[in-house]
Amino acid sequence: MRFSIDPSHITLQTIQPAWLPPGVEAAMLRLDRLHPDISGNKWFKLKYNLETAEAAGKTHIVTFGGAWSNHIAATALACRMAGLSCTGIIRGEAPPAPGHTLQQARQQGMELCFISREAYREKDTTDWEQRFPNSYIIPEGGHNAAGVRGCREILPLAADDRFTHIACAVGTGTTLAGLVNSAGPQQEVLGVVVLKGAGYLQEEVAAMLEAPVHPRWRLLHDFHLGGYARVTPALIACINQFYTDTHIPLDIIYTGKMVYGVEQLAQQGYFPAGSRILLVHTGGLQGNLSLPPGVLKFQIPNSKSQNGPHMP
Ligand SMILES: *Cc1c(COP(=O)(O)O)cnc(C)c1O
Repeated sequence: MRFSIDPSHITLQTIQPAWLPPGVEAAMLRLDRLHPDISGNKWFKLKYNLETAEAAGKTHIVTFGGAWSNHIAATALACRMAGLSCTGIIRGEAPPAPGHTLQQARQQGMELCFISREAYREKDTTDWEQRFPNSYIIPEGGHNAAGVRGCREILPLAADDRFTHIACAVGTGTTLAGLVNSAGPQQEVLGVVVLKGAGYLQEEVAAMLEAPVHPRWRLLHDFHLGGYARVTPALIACINQFYTDTHIPLDIIYTGKMVYGVEQLAQQGYFPAGSRILLVHTGGLQGNLSLPPGVLKFQIPNSKSQNGPHMP
């Protein structure tokens, strides 16, 4: 591929949040530091998709997402850097005033195509290649085999196989599958599901796992706080407290709920003394720009946006 992103900005940071039980250690793998605008797991999911597209001689990418989608934001920029044109199929009517994500995507040259929620539901059975000839289709969220393959490269970045538990947020489960495929036999991989009623994920994740399947992985369905993108005072309090304890910003959709879930498990005594927990920060901080200013204690790092929350 003509461009790549150097992962050297990703750090492994030891953390001591207030809720960490005695005798338990924790660290965060900071994928949010990968790149100012293509933060986190989305790059790992895009990487082999873009490579496959280029190898097949495709010059146009078509992909899907909602109006605040981190995947749309990341794809728009990655395509521009790779010299590919792209279309984002966006769920729902065109908003009168597009938010930060869509504005940025358009600025990167992504063509936005708004479709009804009904049509969006049919997207996986729609013949997009007929409508966009010679294009490469990336499913919503980068949820395919090439995406899983890229996510296999996340865990080795921690360069430490002594973690007993690895935790990440789960949307499609692609990132989780990549982590499970690269985990050691002694490690348990925990996926905090951010959607409500997502029982189908058990099978979908299992379908992405390599044989021999790593047996120690679990989906946690109790920490979505009401459903996708639902924000509660408890979540905001958790994110703000975590920032006070660690100076690490979390996003409200994914990583905030991941930390909230791990905190709840810790309080339930899930992690025995001697445990070492690796929390994977999958990025996504641009999604916080959907919040009114002042709700979170921190400014969104690296964002060039003029309309986001600002610290005093
Ligand atoms: C998209 C996203 C996820 C979900 O990843 P999946 O591979 O779809 O499970 C997690 N965290 C962040 C920050 C994301 O943007």
